[in-house]
Amino acid sequence: MSASNTPQYVIAIDQGTTSTRAIVFDHDGSVVSVGQKEHEQIMPQAGHVEHDAVQIWQNVQEVIGTALGRGDVTDRNIAAIGITNQRETTVVWDRHTGVPVYNAIVWQDTRTQAMVDRLAEDGGADRFKAITGLPLTSYFSASKIAWILDNVEGARARAEAGDLLFGTTDCWVLWNLTGGADGGVHLTDVTNASRTLLMDLTTLAWRDDLLAAFNIPRSMMPEIRSSSEVYGEAEYSSLLRGTPIAGILGDQQAATFGQAAFGPGESKNTYGTGCFLMFQTGEEIVHSANGLITTVGYKLGDGPTHYALEGSIAVAGSLIQWLRDQLGLIHSASEVEKLARSVPDNGGIYVVPAFSGLFAPYWRPDARGAIVGLTRYSNRGHFARAALEAVAFQTRDVLDAVNADVSASGGVPLTELRVDGGMVANEMLMQFQADVLGVPVVRPVVAETTALGAAYAAGLAVGFWSGLEELRANWREDHRWSPSLAADERDRQLRLWRKAVTKSMDWID
Ligand code: ADP
Repeated sequence: MSASNTPQYVIAIDQGTTSTRAIVFDHDGSVVSVGQKEHEQIMPQAGHVEHDAVQIWQNVQEVIGTALGRGDVTDRNIAAIGITNQRETTVVWDRHTGVPVYNAIVWQDTRTQAMVDRLAEDGGADRFKAITGLPLTSYFSASKIAWILDNVEGARARAEAGDLLFGTTDCWVLWNLTGGADGGVHLTDVTNASRTLLMDLTTLAWRDDLLAAFNIPRSMMPEIRSSSEVYGEAEYSSLLRGTPIAGILGDQQAATFGQAAFGPGESKNTYGTGCFLMFQTGEEIVHSANGLITTVGYKLGDGPTHYALEGSIAVAGSLIQWLRDQLGLIHSASEVEKLARSVPDNGGIYVVPAFSGLFAPYWRPDARGAIVGLTRYSNRGHFARAALEAVAFQTRDVLDAVNADVSASGGVPLTELRVDGGMVANEMLMQFQADVLGVPVVRPVVAETTALGAAYAAGLAVGFWSGLEELRANWREDHRWSPSLAADERDRQLRLWRKAVTKSMDWID
């Protein structure tokens, strides 16, 4: 322990889809202490997924308390607070009371499909893509905000009177952390704003024409700021009172930053609830011709905006949760590996987990889950194996799209893939991923890259770290999986996977 109170640590709050974590990092980027708590997944009907924003805020406070109580970590040796979060998930609350008018509508929720279909009648699904980088789907925040205003009694009138605020969960946590109804700071960062379908990628400002298209009053919208600057100080309790909050990055952008993938051509794939591959394109906005979306990668203070291409896969780890919770095939997520290893191969089964349609690179809201290739011989092991393989195949489809876009602009295809997220503990999945990609898969020592990225953004803003080179030096390889599957066998399996994908499409009438 240091004799003085010179801050030795940065704390990151990682407000994820399944849980909220507070992780304390030291100057080397190593994890010093962790607090974690799951929150309820509220699924009142098919297609609806909600979180209780009040429970999330309570969990934030609790996990900060847990993380601060460990080792020599106290509020006095924390230099800064960073926030990272599940993106797109939408909270609308009363600015005077801090009470949300409705549960948070989660990114996976598809209740607004009819609304986006209606908007797409005039100009198609890519109507706003040139401005926002995004296709018109229920995934992004705009239609979720509109749904709340249209369906919660009195909400629209209150919003028009200036009484309601919108935020993604970074914004909700920051507002509460900085005092809530007593003067909370209402802002978000460029990466989160770039996921709403309401921000112009070039000017980094909300667009009045997009707000009008979704009928959202501008007064609800947070100010858009960079990903790394001092936004305010923590107020809510004596725990972190006075500590600057100095970094915000949406979870996938944070993971990319935490992987030290800062420059054009650098990338990572995160295997969590969903799976998200990000590829940095530097200061250039690259529009994909292959089903990827264009998003803000990061912006440090007054520095330039860095953009990225992203392949979002809706269902990855949540498929394993489904095997556990809905089918009762396993008791814990980690058991899936043992079950999958009980068989030598997938027995011809392919699972396409299009629970809420297919995201990148297909963007097919009409798709639904499919299991094909069943025979009398199929067993639980084959199911487990096919579920893990589905995650790897989906990643392959996205990587092919990245490589096609990159090659079209004269760039070099990816030669290896940096990975992180809860599923990279699964060695079998990682080996199969390398096999199916045909390039090595590399896992860093610090797998908590999402929280680390937010800590980096906050620490840079307060001078805890000097710059990107220092952060690059913190990145260390833990394990590397090399491809070992024969090319013809890989191609055979890919053919079958893609045939299975076609079977999942055009299911919704
Ligand atoms: P998020 O940040 O999206 O909440 P995490 O990165 O914490 O997700 O990863 C959790 C996900 O990883 C869960 O969906 C869980 O099913 C899955 N998971 C965790 N451990 C394993 C494992 N050993 N094998 C396969 N999946 C796993």
